[in-house]
Amino acid sequence: MITKDNIIMDPNPLLREKSKKVEIPLSAEDQQLVDSLYEYVIQSTDEELAEKYNLQPAVGIAAPQVGINKQICVVVVHDYDEEGEITGTTQFAFVNPVLISKSNKEAALSSGEGCLSIAQSYPGLIYRSHKIKVKAYDALTKQEIIVEASGYLAIVIQHELDHLNGILFYDHIDKSNPEFKKTNAIFI
Ligand code: ZN
Repeated sequence: MITKDNIIMDPNPLLREKSKKVEIPLSAEDQQLVDSLYEYVIQSTDEELAEKYNLQPAVGIAAPQVGINKQICVVVVHDYDEEGEITGTTQFAFVNPVLISKSNKEAALSSGEGCLSIAQSYPGLIYRSHKIKVKAYDALTKQEIIVEASGYLAIVIQHELDHLNGILFYDHIDKSNPEFKKTNAIFI
């Protein structure tokens, strides 16, 4: 089981490495890694379990964040109603994901981004593509998939894919003008 203690923190150099491709079908070891990453994200958004196991809430996690440089990352994005109850879930366990297209239109989270592996806060806007298309093997449904995502989901996926290339969110912040609002971008 992954807890806060297993998550490696910036500036650990493992976070800056390019991850290696994974063989399909997954080995038992790789499947176990997928399962533990998925379990972390699911349990981290359950208040009781998060407290019990000392989990920081997350919508995604990538294998390099537990010190394993393999092209595996998990994304779980819930939809909520006004009472805060989950009304829907979009989830993937991407293996060997490839970004096959991205829009020129950009989007950014107004409140900036955070990361399990980064303790320090880095205020600033991070511009990513508003729409993306990703090809990958999905270890949850055990099939090759092509995902089209936009808005918040697209941002989360791009954040996780970056981890597989050794990129951290603050790398994208414009150092000279971190809060610069691009006129054509969408703010979420
Ligand atoms: Zn991250």
